Amino acid sequence: MSRIAPQPGILDIELYVGGKSSVEGVSDVVKLSSNENPYGTSDVVKAAHAKTAVNLHRYPKTDHADLRAAIADVHGLDADRIICGVGSDEVLQFVAQAYAGVGDEIVYPEHGFSMYPILARMVGAKPIAVPERERTVDVDAILAACTKKTKIVFLANPANPTGTMIGGNEVARLADGLPKGAILVHDGAYTEYVEGFDGGAALVEARDNVVMTRTFSKVYGLGGLRVGWGYAPKEIIDVLNRIRQPFNLSPIQMSLAEAAVRDQAWVKKCRTENTRLRAWLAEALAELGVPSDTSTANFILARFVDQDEAEACDDYLKTQGIIVRRTTGYGLPNCLRITVGDEAGCRRVAHAIGQFKDGAR
Ligand SMILES: *Cc1c(COP(=O)(O)O)cnc(C)c1O
Repeated sequence: MSRIAPQPGILDIELYVGGKSSVEGVSDVVKLSSNENPYGTSDVVKAAHAKTAVNLHRYPKTDHADLRAAIADVHGLDADRIICGVGSDEVLQFVAQAYAGVGDEIVYPEHGFSMYPILARMVGAKPIAVPERERTVDVDAILAACTKKTKIVFLANPANPTGTMIGGNEVARLADGLPKGAILVHDGAYTEYVEGFDGGAALVEARDNVVMTRTFSKVYGLGGLRVGWGYAPKEIIDVLNRIRQPFNLSPIQMSLAEAAVRDQAWVKKCRTENTRLRAWLAEALAELGVPSDTSTANFILARFVDQDEAEACDDYLKTQGIIVRRTTGYGLPNCLRITVGDEAGCRRVAHAIGQFKDGAR
C-alpha cells in the first residue's frame, strides 16, 4: 500500500456512470435516459452563443453579478442571496464541504439522487439513507433518522428517479423539525415542470436553515453548459462563496444562462409539452400493464413485475435504439426511468414496450 492515501470515505465512492447515448449497430437512437429537454436549447440562447466569443481572452467576473441579477429579476428574489455554480451539483458540493465533515451525518431519502451519498463520502461524512413510503418521501422517517450528528438533509422535490413530490407544508414541517444547526437542502432541479411552484424560495426566505438549488440543465435544455444556482440565507451564501473558486463560471456559461433565464416563453412551452406528453406516456404504458406513480417531473418511473422483466425490457428497448435508465442503483431494480421525449420519442418508446409485452425479445 502506498503511504499516500486519500481522505477517509473517498475510496468508497463508486465512479459515476452517466446515461448511455449510443447503441452499437443502431443509428437512429432516441435517448430518454438523462432527463434532457427533447426540444433542446432555445433560439434566444443560441443567438447569445454567437456573441460570446469576443472576450474569451479576459478572465470572467467573479461575482456573477449580471446572471444573479437576471435570476433575481425573473423570479422576484434577492440577488444577494443567490450563488451560481458549475451545475447545481457544484452548489450541493459547496454545502456539503462547508457544513459537513468527518464524524457528521448526511441524511437523504432511500431513492434519492445519486449525488447525495457521493457528496457525503467526499467530505468524510456518513451517508444515511432513510426509507420512503411507496416511493414517496416520508418526512417523519427522515426526522426520526436525524441525530445531533446530522448536518445536512438532502431532498429533491420533485424527486429523481421517482418523480413524486411532497407538499410545501410537509417540507416546512421537515425544516422546522431538524436538529439545531442542520440544513435542509431543497433540490429543485425539476421545479419548472410544476406550474406555479416557487421551488422552495419562500421557505428559504422564511427560515435560516433552508437552501434551495436550481439548474439550467433540465427545462432550459442546457445540460451541457453546466450552470446551476442556489438560494439561501445571506449568512450561508457568504460561507459558500468562501469555498467557491472565484472563476468557477466562464463568460460563456454566464451569458448563455442569463439569456436562458430571461426566455421564460421557452420554459412555458417546454413545460406545457412535457405535461401533455407525460400524461399520454403514463397512460399508454399503464394500458400495457406497466404502471407508474403520478410524476411531477420530465420523466416517469415505469414499474415492471420484477427485476428480470425490467432488465429484459431495457435490453429489448436498446435493440430498438431506445435508451432509458435502469434504477437498480437507486434501490428500484424492477423499474426503468424514462425521460418524457418529444411526441415521436414518446410514441416510439410506448410502441416498443408494447411489442416487448407482446412477447418480442
Ligand atoms: C439533474 C439533477 C440535478 C442537476 O444537476 P446539474 O449539476 O445542475 O446538472 C440536480 N438534482 C437532481 C435531483 C437532478 O435530477
